[in-house]
Amino acid sequence: MHQYAQNLGFASYTDLLEHSKILYSKANINWYVTRLTEGMWAAWNGLDSLNNNYKSFPSYDEAKNYIDQLYYSLYGYPLSMAKLGAKINICCEHCHSNLHLSFIHEDEKVAWLLCPNILNSEEIHDSLAVPVAMIGG
Ligand SMILES: [Zn+2]
Repeated sequence: MHQYAQNLGFASYTDLLEHSKILYSKANINWYVTRLTEGMWAAWNGLDSLNNNYKSFPSYDEAKNYIDQLYYSLYGYPLSMAKLGAKINICCEHCHSNLHLSFIHEDEKVAWLLCPNILNSEEIHDSLAVPVAMIGG
């Protein structure tokens, strides 16, 4: 752990953690982005620190994106990212357009569906909440 911290340019593992942001924490493994001393950003997780492994990037966003993609490939996309804006197989009762997914309340497992015409018309269109399970979540 100490050697790993030094490889990334820090005096100690504690020092390394103080300069790191935890993006995810799952199954006792933390996923980090760290600003390195030379202005680069490192993407790594708790297992990488045991294997002396990390990836460095010129920006925080690239490091975060790398972690995001790796994390999603292991644990799946968050529902809100995978489906927001998606056409839903439920139609507006007024104009018969497919409703769009506009918001997911993850804790309550509720999805808000909106008719896409709701904003650009004075007519009445559907806006309703359904259980997330109904839209395949
Ligand atoms: Zn409508």
